[in-house]
Amino acid sequence: MTKKIFSYTFLLGVMVLLISGAIFFCLQYRQTIDDAYETLRGEASCVKSGVMIGGIEYLESLDTKNRITWIGADGSVLYDSDYPDLTANQGGFKEVHQALETGSGSGIRRSSSGRAQTMYYGLLCGDGTVVRLSRPVSAVRRALSVVSFMISVTILVLILISALIAFRIAKTIAQPINEMDLDDLPESNPYPELQQLVERFEEQKEEIASQAVEREQLRREAMEQQAQEQGRMRREFSANVSHELKTPLTSINGFAELMRSGLCDEEKMIEFAGDIYRESQRLIALVNDIIRISELDEGAIHTTTEKVDIVKAAQDTIDILQPAADKRGISITLQAPCGEDGSCLPVRVVGSDYLIREMFYNLCDNAVKYNHDGGDVFVTIREEEKDALISFSDTGIGIPEAEQDRVFERFYRVDKSHSRTLGGTGLGLSIVKHAAQVQNATVEMESAPDKGTTITVHFPFDREDADALEFAADESMQGALIPS
Ligand code: ADP
Repeated sequence: MTKKIFSYTFLLGVMVLLISGAIFFCLQYRQTIDDAYETLRGEASCVKSGVMIGGIEYLESLDTKNRITWIGADGSVLYDSDYPDLTANQGGFKEVHQALETGSGSGIRRSSSGRAQTMYYGLLCGDGTVVRLSRPVSAVRRALSVVSFMISVTILVLILISALIAFRIAKTIAQPINEMDLDDLPESNPYPELQQLVERFEEQKEEIASQAVEREQLRREAMEQQAQEQGRMRREFSANVSHELKTPLTSINGFAELMRSGLCDEEKMIEFAGDIYRESQRLIALVNDIIRISELDEGAIHTTTEKVDIVKAAQDTIDILQPAADKRGISITLQAPCGEDGSCLPVRVVGSDYLIREMFYNLCDNAVKYNHDGGDVFVTIREEEKDALISFSDTGIGIPEAEQDRVFERFYRVDKSHSRTLGGTGLGLSIVKHAAQVQNATVEMESAPDKGTTITVHFPFDREDADALEFAADESMQGALIPS
């Protein structure tokens, strides 16, 4: 603002000075020309008197800086101080013509004999002849150049002064505005024109303050809601956990009661012991899964910086599950990118080796568990442009469409007793979903009852990043796989 006021004021000052200077110069020019004519006129009248008395001898005796021409009534040159041989008729020139007509005449033009701009003054004598005096305009201009130099210096000084004045004006105008405290606007301000602006400021300040209060309120409400939701989920989870733990414990308690009564024969004792073993296995699996999901909830597992070869993780998982699959005649096939020698090439993603193996185990275990005897499981790994994907496809019992989203909920099973018989905890897919989330991976499911299920995990990677990262030694990839 100060800058703008300064520029405009300064520009105005400069313009006024330049225009005044130009006007002054024009007036001065006019005055100098008039003065020059006045001098010529004075000299001409002296020469006229002299000529009338002394004739040509008088003219020849004169010593003057100006050119003197004596012209006859018919325009013929009787005498010329600068050009004695001049014969051209001068009657046609304005100043001579005017002098013959009115007694005197003047004009500025290029001289016929020289090329310079010249001032002429002609005066009619009593005998009808004309005395003409002339002088080059350059002589007048020389006098003017001193004047114009002085004018220029004066203007320059005035421009400097006007710059200082403009600066002071700009500062004085802008100061009250610059010093205005927007947090504490004055009741009345130095410029009534600004009152409206000040009022708008006040309004906006109030608006912003009330919006901030509203936002804070909304944030608190959202946090409260979130806390309530989390509390509800925790209570629900605790209730479910208690319920899930109670079932195998009640069974174990019942079998132990029977064994303790001493009423069972040896065969029954062995059967009950087997039942207790199975139920306690379920309990261990359940507790392990609960620990895992609690760790994920609390963000206790660090996931970010490892480079994991998912081909190796998948192969290790298959090796663990192969005996269980063999028992039911289920074949597990790994399809992964191969090199020229037929061996699998590594496919690296950035994530947690521990969580990735956990996910693969749960998905492959489900593909075997919920398969028909003699069925197939295909584990396929592919690198795509922006991600690496692994899919677990089975030819098993499938999941009805209505249940496909729900199976990712904690403790949700399509067929509770079937899952229990197979040793399921109802937590496997929720661990998969949660583990995928913390590694920025996504999970997709396709399933049709009695046809089979395919669950695909997409691990996003930046190929350049993944290539740039140094692949960890094979040993470091062999994290412990804890069955759920
Ligand atoms: P569970 O320990 O019971 O297997 P999950 O969370 O792993 O728990 O799976 C939840 C439910 O989803 C299972 O009980 C089962 O009904 C269904 N399910 C999961 N995977 C498959 C699959 N590959 N084929 C058919 N049903 C499946």
